[in-house]
Formats: sequence, structure tokens, C-alpha cells
Amino acid sequence: MRIEAHAKINLSLDIVGKREDGYHLLEMVMQEIELHDIVEIEKADKGITLSCSKEYIPCNAKNTAYKAAEMMIERCGIDGGVRISIEKNIPVAAGLAGGSTDAAAVIKGMNEVYELGLSLEEMMDLGLRVGADVPYCLVGGTALCSGIGEIVKPLKPFSGVDVLLVKPAFGVSTKDAYMGFELDKVKRHVSTRRLIAAMDIRNLDLVAYNMRNLLENVTLRKHPILKTIKESLSEHGAIGTLMSGSGPTVYGIFSSSEDARKAEGFFRDKYREVILTRTR
Ligand code: ATP
Repeated sequence: MRIEAHAKINLSLDIVGKREDGYHLLEMVMQEIELHDIVEIEKADKGITLSCSKEYIPCNAKNTAYKAAEMMIERCGIDGGVRISIEKNIPVAAGLAGGSTDAAAVIKGMNEVYELGLSLEEMMDLGLRVGADVPYCLVGGTALCSGIGEIVKPLKPFSGVDVLLVKPAFGVSTKDAYMGFELDKVKRHVSTRRLIAAMDIRNLDLVAYNMRNLLENVTLRKHPILKTIKESLSEHGAIGTLMSGSGPTVYGIFSSSEDARKAEGFFRDKYREVILTRTR
């Protein structure tokens, strides 16, 4: 079975509190994009076999797809194994939920090939054991995610908007980004309701105005190049720019596809991973 595992961008990321166990409480508008990995899943007699098109991604128990398969075998009492292959197109350690979306694909795929009959809610509960973004990746589309990300409320679709992703040659660990964040120093939170209202009426300028990510300053301070990329995206016609998740990918949204293509040409020569895609 072949599954398209889509990436996401954050149109917003607000941090609204902290749980006793140290996890941050979030409010995020998540948006699926066309960019995707391809995950192929087949039943096997026993064990988990994983292969990936990018040699630097671990193909062992450290891989989120492997973790998801292991968890499914254990939790669902599956008597058998699975063969998984991943064609990796989503930049890694980028803030685009690349690992989480592969895990979600494995959960969906194993539900099918083993005819487990799990509901979406049941898969989301299982997915949360692998990672906080996995429940959203199972739902996809446009959604408001809260809690640690696991409470997913679908929103009106916001598809077909041109998005240019620019990821410089370094990765950012999600843990490090959150560790550098100080909740009591936040002066202004994200206007999540205003952002959603602007998306509802598809007013792109207003969407751009309300796009905000509280982790952006933390990562921008550490990596000033991201500020340069954001400024340059604006100079090349982006009507809004933001860092996705904990970064380092920054993206621009465009109201003109021609501007987006021209900007892609400009950035392609300068940065390692530059991908022109669309909201889905
Ligand atoms: P998020 O937006 O959910 O924080 P991310 O895009 O920042 O995700 P990932 O691409 O999921 O980060 O990768 C983070 C780390 O996880 C990398 O160091 C990578 O080697 C490892 N990893 C494990 N499994 C996978 C996978 N299936 N795809 C990509 N990376 C994986």
C-alpha cells in the first residue's frame, strides 16, 4: 500500500502555558502542504524492515516510522510484521513534521493492511504515543491544534496558496528551541482568532499580518540568517513570512504564482533546500 505523507507549516504557534511535566501548552494553526514523502507498507511474516531514500536518516528504532510500527504491533496485538519504505522529500529537522507524518502514514497503513478497523480517534490516541504532532498529521488539512498539539479541531480549508519554503543547511532540534523560550517574558501572544477569521474570508493580506510564531525570536536570535531570509522573501514578493514550528525552515506566502516562481529561482541558487509548494 502506497501513502502520501504530507508535510505541514505553522501559520501560527502560540505558547499559552506549561504542564507540570515540562511540556508546553500550545495553540497552533497548522496547514497541510502539497510537499510529501511516499510511504509504502506491506505485510511481512515477522519483524519490522525499514528502508529510506536518504541514507542519513536512521532506519532503526530511532525512526518515527519504525516507532509507529513497533507501537502498532504491540498495542494492537498484531501477529506479524511489516516492511516499510520511505521516499523522503520533506526536509529533515526542519519544522515541517517530516517524522510525524511518516509515523501517521504507518499507523494508517497498518490499520488498512491488517484490517484493524481503528477509528480516526483511536489512531490519534495511538499516534500521540509516538509524537505530539502525529494526531494532527492523521487528520491533516487546516486545523487548530491545542494541548501539546494533540487536540485537533479542523478548520475551513485554506488550500491553493503558493508557499515558498527555504531551509538553510542546518537543522534545529525542537527540544532546544523550546528550552530557549521564556513564557513569562512574552509581551504579546498570537491573535489566533483574528488569524482564523482572516483565513475564513481568505483575505491573504490579513492572514499574513496575523501569522506569528512565538518560537521565531528564539531561533532567529541564534541564527540571524533566518532574519535575512525572511527579509529577502518579502523583497521578492512574499506577502507574509514565518518560521514553521521550531524551525529552521522559513516560508513566504504569495498572492501571485508568478512572483512565487521568480522568488524560487532567486533562492534556489543560495540555499540548500528551496521548495515551492502550495497549501492543501
Ligand atoms: P517537527 O516539525 O514535528 O518538529 P521536524 O521536521 O522538525 O519535525 P523531523 O524531520 O521529524 O523534524 O526530524 C527530526 C529528527 O528525527 C531528525 O534528527 C531525524 O534524523 C529523526 N527522524 C526519525 N525518523 C524520521 C523520519 N521518518 N523522517 C525524518 N526524520 C526522522
